Amino acid sequence: MKISWRITAAIVVSLIPLLVSSVDDSEAAVARKAARAKIKPPAPETCDPRNFKIVLDVGHTSEAQGATSARNDVEFGFNLNLARRIGARLKSAGFAATRVLVTEGKAKASLLKRVGTANATHADFFLSIHHDSVPDKMLEVWEFDGSRSYFSDRFSGHSLFVSERNPHFTDSLSFARLLGKELKADGLHYASQYTLPLMGRYRHPLLDKDVGVYRYDGLVVLSQTRSAAVLLEAGSIINRDEEMVMNSPERQELIASAVTTAMQAYCQRR
Ligand SMILES: [Zn+2]
Repeated sequence: MKISWRITAAIVVSLIPLLVSSVDDSEAAVARKAARAKIKPPAPETCDPRNFKIVLDVGHTSEAQGATSARNDVEFGFNLNLARRIGARLKSAGFAATRVLVTEGKAKASLLKRVGTANATHADFFLSIHHDSVPDKMLEVWEFDGSRSYFSDRFSGHSLFVSERNPHFTDSLSFARLLGKELKADGLHYASQYTLPLMGRYRHPLLDKDVGVYRYDGLVVLSQTRSAAVLLEAGSIINRDEEMVMNSPERQELIASAVTTAMQAYCQRR
C-alpha cells in the first residue's frame, strides 16, 4: 500500500513539470502572436468609392413609423423616399457599395437590428435618414382633409447629429461638417432650437454652430455602430410649409446631391 502511494506520488510529481511547461508554452505562443499582431503594419486607410460600404439607414419601420406630419403622413415614408434618392445619387457617382437599409419590427428592437446589420456587413459609413417634428407640448391643432390634425410652424430646418461614444467620432464629425457646409451653400438653414431649454430632454450641445452639428450620445444608431455614423434630420414635417418642400423631388435631389458631394470630399480626405 505504502509503496503504491509512493509510486503514485512520484508519477504525479513527475507530471507537474510537463503540465507547467505546456501552460508556459501556450502562454508564450499567445505572447508571440500578440507581438506579431503589434508589429503588423496597419492597413492603409484609402477610400476607393467602388468598395466603400455606405449604409443608408431608413429611420423607423413600417410597423413603428416615427413622427406624423402636419398632413398626417408618416415619417418612415419620407425617410424611405429620401434614402432611395440619396442611394441612387451615390451609386451614380461611383459609390457602388451603397446600400439602403430598411428594417422591420418594433421601434426598440429595430434599432439593435439595424446596428447589427451595419456591423455584420463591416460598413465603412452609416448615415441614418430622418425627418423632424417637435415635442408634443408644442403641437397646435388644425383641420386637414376634414380631420383634426396637428402642426407646429415654429421651427424649420435640417440638423446633423454625431455621438462622442462612436469609435470614429472625429470622422463622423468631419463628415457631418462637410454635409452641413454643402447644405448651407445650397441656401438651407439648420434647426437651431436644439440648444433651447424648452426642448427639455431633446436639448443637445451644438458642436458646430456654423453648419448645425449637434452631439447626441444617447442614440443607439450612432453610439453602437462600429463605423463612422451620422444622423441627418433632413427637415421638419410638422411644419406645414416645410412638409410640402420635403415632399418635393427638387428638395430631395438637392439633399441627395449635397450628401454625394460631402461623401466625395470625405472619401478624398482619408
Ligand atoms: Zn425619426
